Amino acid sequence: MRRRFFAIFAIFAIFALTLASFIAPRTLAQAPLPQQTGAPQTPAIDFTKLDQDALGWLQSLIHINTVNPPGNELVAAKYIAGVLQQEGISSEIDQSTPGRGILIARLSANPVPDPSRALLLMGHLDVVGVDKSKWQVDPFGGVIQNGYLYGRGAIDDKGMLVAEMAVLVALKRSNFPLDRDVIFLAEGDEEQAGEAGMKFAIENYWQKIAAGFALNEGGNVTLKDGKVQYIGIQAAEKVPVNVTVTANGTSGHGSVPLPNNPIVLLSSAISKIAAYQTPFQLTPVTQSYFEQLSMVEDPEIGKWMRALDSPVRADLAEEKVAAANPVWNAMVRDTIAPTMLQAGIRPNVVPSEAQATLNVRLLPGNSIDSLILKFREIVNNPQITFQADTSIGEAAPSSSLDGAFFKTIQQASNEEFPDVPVIPMMSTVATDSADLRLRGVQAYGLLPFPLTEEDALRMHADNERIPLDSFNKGIDYLYRIVTSFVAEK
Ligand SMILES: [Zn+2]
Repeated sequence: MRRRFFAIFAIFAIFALTLASFIAPRTLAQAPLPQQTGAPQTPAIDFTKLDQDALGWLQSLIHINTVNPPGNELVAAKYIAGVLQQEGISSEIDQSTPGRGILIARLSANPVPDPSRALLLMGHLDVVGVDKSKWQVDPFGGVIQNGYLYGRGAIDDKGMLVAEMAVLVALKRSNFPLDRDVIFLAEGDEEQAGEAGMKFAIENYWQKIAAGFALNEGGNVTLKDGKVQYIGIQAAEKVPVNVTVTANGTSGHGSVPLPNNPIVLLSSAISKIAAYQTPFQLTPVTQSYFEQLSMVEDPEIGKWMRALDSPVRADLAEEKVAAANPVWNAMVRDTIAPTMLQAGIRPNVVPSEAQATLNVRLLPGNSIDSLILKFREIVNNPQITFQADTSIGEAAPSSSLDGAFFKTIQQASNEEFPDVPVIPMMSTVATDSADLRLRGVQAYGLLPFPLTEEDALRMHADNERIPLDSFNKGIDYLYRIVTSFVAEK
C-alpha cells in the first residue's frame, strides 16, 4: 500500500489502497516526489523490505528492557550500533554512567560539516515501568496481535527511534544525494531527569550533535473515525519550575493552640494561591494552534476559538475555550499545582515549620520571579516565604513557524495527508527539545504514526501498542519530511 510499488504492481496497490481507508491516496512514483518537491530522482528503495526490517528492529528493542530506572540503555544502544554497522553506517556509543549512554551516527553531505545546516533525528531509548498483571501480553515480548505490535515503548519512544533509523538506513541504502548532514541520536534517561541522556549528550558531545534543525517526539497524527483528523507539530513547550512554600510559626504543645500554627498559615496560603487565576496569554504558537484547531473541532467551540482575537468577544471566548478543556486551559496561562506537603513530627506537637511544593508550568518567556511577587501579594503574610528551584527549567524559545524547516514539514504533511490541517502546538509537558531550543536549534516534536486517541493514551499506560499500518505510514511520512529537507536541490 505504499509508494514503493512499481508500475507492474499498480493493480495490487490500488486494491490495497481501497482497503486502507484512513491512508490518503498514495503516489505510485518513486520517492521523494521529484516534481512536487524539486528533489532529484533517487535510486529505488525497497520499502516493503525496509518496513519488515524496521518491524524486526522495533520488536528487538522492545525485548531489551530499558525501564528507567535503571534504564540500561547501553544494551539497546549496542543493538542499534550492530544494525547500523550491517547497513554500513558507523556510530559511536558514549557511556554516561555504567550501563547507560547515548549513540550518535551521521550521514555526511560534505567532507567539512556545517552544523548550522545539519538535521538531527533524535529519540530516547528508555521507557517507563509496567504493571505486568494489567497487560494482555508480555510487555517485553514484542507480540503482534490483530494488526498491532504490543510492547512498552512501541509508541514512546522506541517506535519513533526505529522510524528515524529506518529513514537513515533508507538514505544510506539508496545513496541519497544529501545537501545537509543527517545526524541520528539515540539518547536515554528521558523518563527521569535526563542527566544520563540528553543533558550528558549536550554537555559532553555537543560538537557531534550540533545541528540547526531537529525532529524529536512530542507531536501527533490524530486518527478519528478512520481518518486523519489533524497533525500536531510541537514547536514550543512550557517551562517547569518547582516552588517551595514555607510557613514559619511557634512550636508548642498540641494542648494549647496558638494563632500562628504554621500548618494553618500554610493551608490558608495554598488556598489563596489555588484560587488565583493567572492571566490568559496567547503566544504565536498557541494563537496558530487555536486558529487551525477551530477547523476540525466541534463547531460551537470552534466558533469561540476563532473569536479569541475578536476585539469585542475575546474575553468571553477566552473563558469558553479555557473552560472547555483542562489541557487548553494549561496552554493559555501559567499553571500552579500544589503537589506535596510536609509538616509535623508528632500528633501532640505543633511544629515550627510547614512546607508545600507548587509545581509551576510557565509559558515560554514568563518569569518565575514575577509570579512569586504575585504570590507574596496574594498571601500577604511575612511568615510565608517562597523559594524557586531554578535548576529545573530554563525558558527555551519557541521554534519558528515561518522558517524553512517548518514550511517543509507543512508541505510534506500536505503531500502525505492531503487536506489534513497541520497544527503547531505548545506542549504542557517538557521534552528534550527544550535543551536544543536553548541552543538555537529549530526543533519540532512529531509522532509520525496515525493513532486514535485511545491508542495514544496507552503511552505510559497498560497495553501500549502501535498499529502496524500506522507504523509503516509513519516511516513513509518521516521519510518524506526528511528527504524533502535534506535533498540536494
Ligand atoms: Zn517519550
